[in-house]
Amino acid sequence: MPRAKSNAKPKRQSTKKKQSVRQSAGGIHLDSDDLKQDIRDAGGGNYFTWPDSGKVKLRLLPYEHSGRAKLFYKAVQHWQPTPEIRGSVSCEGHDCKLCQLRASLDKANQDLIDHLRPRIQYLFNVVDKADKEERIQIFRGPRTVYNMFVAVILDEEEFPDACSLEKGVDFLVQKSGTGLNTTYGVTPSPKRSAVNPQGSLTNFEEQEANRGSVDLKVIAEQVAEAYDVTVPF
Ligand SMILES: [Zn+2]
Repeated sequence: MPRAKSNAKPKRQSTKKKQSVRQSAGGIHLDSDDLKQDIRDAGGGNYFTWPDSGKVKLRLLPYEHSGRAKLFYKAVQHWQPTPEIRGSVSCEGHDCKLCQLRASLDKANQDLIDHLRPRIQYLFNVVDKADKEERIQIFRGPRTVYNMFVAVILDEEEFPDACSLEKGVDFLVQKSGTGLNTTYGVTPSPKRSAVNPQGSLTNFEEQEANRGSVDLKVIAEQVAEAYDVTVPF
C-alpha cells in the first residue's frame, strides 16, 4: 500500500467558525469561501481541464475515507438522461431504473440505447505540475489511464512510495485523438519530485452522498415519455 501522506486537509473537516451571513443595506455579503465550496459541490469548481497539447504531468494524491487512504473513486453515471437534468445522475447498478429501461429497448431505439449507456470514470485528486500554485484538482480518467496509474503504484519495487509528497512519482500523461478515437499514454517520470498541494482533497464518497437522492424511476419514466417508449416496470 502506498502511504497516504498529505498535509492537505480533507474536505468538510474544517473547524473554521462560520460567521453568520452579514446583511447590510447593500444586500447580503457573499463569503467567497462559501461560494467556492458551493461551486465544488456543484461539480464545476476544481475539475482538471486538458491543455491543448494534451500533455500533462500529474501527481496523484490519496485522500482519506472511513479511516483509510484511497487513491481513486469509480463513478458510474448516466449523462443528462433528460434535457432538464444538467449534468449526470449516478447509476444505481442492479436496481438502476435507467439501466432496466435501456435493457428493455430494441434495436429501433439504438440512439436511446447509446444515450443511456452508463459511463465509467475514475476520479483522482491530482496536482498538475505545470500549475505554479499546485492546486488540488479532480482528474477524470478512463479505465485505461486508471490501469496504468495503478500498475505503477503497485510496482513498489520499481516505484516505492509513489505518492510521497517529498519524493513522489510524476505521471506524464499524453492524450491523443478525440471522441471515440481518444487514446492515452502514461509514463512514470524517472525523476522524483516534491509537491506542496494547495486546497482540499475531495472525498468522492462523501461528495456522492451529499448529492442528494434522485428518483431514477421518475427520471426513467420521463425519458420513456420523451422518446415514446414504454418502461418495463
Ligand atoms: Zn444505470
